Amino acid sequence: MSELRKFLFDGLPVRGMLVRLTDCWQEVLRRRAAGGNDPHYPSPVRRLLGEMTAAATLMQSNIKFNGALVLQIFGDGPVKLLVVEVQPDLSFRATAKVVGEVPENATLSQMVNVHNKGRCAVTLDPRDRLPGQQPYQGVISLWDDRGQPIERFSEVLQHYMLQSEQLDTTLVLAANEQMAGGLLIQRLPVQGAGNLSAKATQADEDQIGRNEDYARIAILAASLKEQELLELDGPTVLRRLFWEENRVEFDPLIGEQAPRFACKCSRDRVQRMIAGLGQDEARDIVREQGQIEVGCDFCGMAYRFDAIDAEQIFVNTAPGSSSLQ
Ligand SMILES: [Zn+2]
Repeated sequence: MSELRKFLFDGLPVRGMLVRLTDCWQEVLRRRAAGGNDPHYPSPVRRLLGEMTAAATLMQSNIKFNGALVLQIFGDGPVKLLVVEVQPDLSFRATAKVVGEVPENATLSQMVNVHNKGRCAVTLDPRDRLPGQQPYQGVISLWDDRGQPIERFSEVLQHYMLQSEQLDTTLVLAANEQMAGGLLIQRLPVQGAGNLSAKATQADEDQIGRNEDYARIAILAASLKEQELLELDGPTVLRRLFWEENRVEFDPLIGEQAPRFACKCSRDRVQRMIAGLGQDEARDIVREQGQIEVGCDFCGMAYRFDAIDAEQIFVNTAPGSSSLQ
């Protein structure tokens, strides 16, 4: 059962979050397997995409952004693209595009950063975007401060959190074909439960790496083995790690409130995309292929438009208004 648990350490400037995606992660993989070409992810890709999915869920839950949080890697190796999109209600979708051979034990670099041209980014796309307003995009470095490629995605994000938020963060991520999970421990900028979304101050920055309570809890968190995260339920994981600490847990997000798979694609959107191609282009495709078929990379849904459907799209579209909306 999927779950997301948030907790604080009583009286200490440390918060934590645990996410376990089970049924919804399996659905991502099942839909992928049901798709046509390129059905199964190689296991290192499945693991990376699962870790990104768990991490994106934690990030969205952490900042409670009123819009989509999108975590992406644009790879220069056999994996060209990995995308995870998480909505404010923690519904999510995820997909990866693999074009080459991925070695069985491929590292992050071997998948997406072969020529040092891999890019990772987080995008915050507000739900009610004003005209002309651009989504916020943050660049997440795939290299450490000495310019060495980072080989674990959890370390990529830990490094990013420290750079961008000036906050010590410990992240443990794991994924297999059954489960994608993550544990996040973060030093709070200001002590206490009332400051969950407070921004770091100069005094907080001076605390980086120096808070003893955070350091102790971070060591406990980092001792969590991937196997344990994958196989034990949430309460057991937290009890085993932090049994000596006074933990205050919020109501867990389980059942209908838990993170879940949902795709936002629709026939309507695909129609608008075809309208964007223009009538001539659409007719060419119908002539060559008998129909227009557009598959959704996220959920595997196939949208088909025969010659009549395709003509219909342009009936109400005045010339010159065929831009992508
Ligand atoms: Zn879809």
